Amino acid sequence: MSTDQHPEAKGRAGGRVVVVTGGARGIGRAIVDRFTTEGASVIIGDLTDPGEVATGLDMTGQREWITLDVTDELSVQEFAKSVATGHGGVDVLVNNAGIMDTRTLANETVADWDHTMAVNLRGPFLMAKHLVPLMDGRSDSAIVNIGSIEGIGANALHASYAASKAGVHGLTRALAVDLGPVGIRCNAVAPGWIDTDLNRNYVDKHPNQAQAVTDLASLHPVGRIGDPADVAAAVLWLASPDAGFVTGQVITVDGGRMTRLSIPASLADD
Ligand code: NDP
Repeated sequence: MSTDQHPEAKGRAGGRVVVVTGGARGIGRAIVDRFTTEGASVIIGDLTDPGEVATGLDMTGQREWITLDVTDELSVQEFAKSVATGHGGVDVLVNNAGIMDTRTLANETVADWDHTMAVNLRGPFLMAKHLVPLMDGRSDSAIVNIGSIEGIGANALHASYAASKAGVHGLTRALAVDLGPVGIRCNAVAPGWIDTDLNRNYVDKHPNQAQAVTDLASLHPVGRIGDPADVAAAVLWLASPDAGFVTGQVITVDGGRMTRLSIPASLADD
């Protein structure tokens, strides 16, 4: 449902029904906040009630939480039923829920591998499978998947995570091809280092946290790490009619980190 159908709707997502998985905290929460500010009705699908995990998250107004485990097809089906009953359909699906696993190959069990794949890759597949029917008859429908720069490069000890995110980028392209003819676009955002709990744990463990923050910032041509709101802004654009001719793309939001080629410190100008 677009603002064209509801001219009274306000904001860049006014009148739109938006589902955000893993929307209780981190990047997902910023996406929820941005779409709500832009006038959308937002449904958070998450394992836990955001009211319990996200202190200060305002659950009043145009947002609600429905319990969801993206790895479990029954849970996804129940979630889709509740959304259909409550809202009649969906305009935008944001597949954001994800986990990161850090292990050596020797320590990675099949269960570890399968769990990462289940959350990061089976989840977006199941959500698309069961929510695409709710997009039937809507205009400007869009899926936005949250991939990662680790779907393009890889950090050490991230075999399952990097593989799952490369899979998300592939799924994005495949869905764009299959769903384009029924009027649904599908794109991905590949964030770089974003300031969330997931990453803050690394910095908190460092003996010199101030140095770690400075060093991290210096990896980025823009001179800073990312904020969840940076990712939310890209998601909003990809989901909007302004991106109506954009599908099957992976948009990197990393402050230029992947673009700058590395050079030995001894050869750097300063
Ligand atoms: P967080 O860990 O802060 O938040 C992830 C959210 O997903 C949590 O609310 C979590 O719930 C929820 N979740 C986890 N498993 C499931 C599940 N099975 N079903 C439903 N919800 C689930 O992560 P970020 O905000 O940092 O990351 C969000 C996305 O962005 C992920 O896909 C991540 O891979 C990606 N990303 C993040 C980057 C970063 O720098 N932070 C960089 C690149 C990509 P609970 O708390 O209950 O577990």
